[in-house]
Amino acid sequence: MNIALFNDFQLGFVKDDRIYEVGGLLFAGQQPICPMIEFIRGYDRFKAVVEARYSECNSYALDEVRLRQPVSHPGKIIAAPVNYLSHKKEMNVQHTARGLGFFLKAGTSIIGPGDAIVLPANKRGRRIDHELELAFVIGKRAKNVAAEDAHQYIFGFTGLNDVTLRPDEHNEEERCLRKSFDTFTPMGPWITTVEDIPDFNNIHMKLTVNGEVRQKAIAKDMVCGIAELVEIYSRVMTLEPGDIIATGTPDGVAPLHAGDVVKIDIERVGAFANSVTAE
Ligand code: MN
Repeated sequence: MNIALFNDFQLGFVKDDRIYEVGGLLFAGQQPICPMIEFIRGYDRFKAVVEARYSECNSYALDEVRLRQPVSHPGKIIAAPVNYLSHKKEMNVQHTARGLGFFLKAGTSIIGPGDAIVLPANKRGRRIDHELELAFVIGKRAKNVAAEDAHQYIFGFTGLNDVTLRPDEHNEEERCLRKSFDTFTPMGPWITTVEDIPDFNNIHMKLTVNGEVRQKAIAKDMVCGIAELVEIYSRVMTLEPGDIIATGTPDGVAPLHAGDVVKIDIERVGAFANSVTAE
């Protein structure tokens, strides 16, 4: 299923061209802080309820609503650095995700479809790039999970732009700083659950700027694949429902400028766009 947050962060079940406000079926009048994480926690029960009863709920044409980031308050965003050889080559760096492991991005850097990426005023003149990434969302608490069992801990897939301030000759801030500015993690358009994409290593993805293709990839070209990332990261820390894992970017990263429109299209999930503005 495709499951979204929309308008005032209500939970929405997406079916064809409509979105159904299904939170009322599930949360007994309470509005959880992050309805998506609450939904993920209860998914084994909630899935059947939504599929049987969504047509009783208020619904809207998809183009009438404001889609939001599909997870509003993740416990953590874990991201794979240098996880495609094509990107390793263009950056001329020595190590891949296999050696580097991961970095963390601030949860407050997330924005949703249609929101603006804001280039910070105090970094004017620095290069700030888009990074096309497939992201997945953890479905169940995971610790020391083997790669062959990883699919049981994945809730679903979404698109993510890991917007990045590049180092220059005078500055080499940690990745965590360079990637955690507010608005530097656009996500969307919703989460497509893993049962709809069992062969997730075959997902194709693409990023355009102002309509021109800048990045293209297929998930199977990752250095550390999706299942292996669950194994590597869950050996370090407990993964919780709603945690987001960004799987790294292929080649084609390039600077963003005020006025640009960046679109990410994840095959079998969906597409979303963000404009770019200067602070
Ligand atoms: Mn990245």
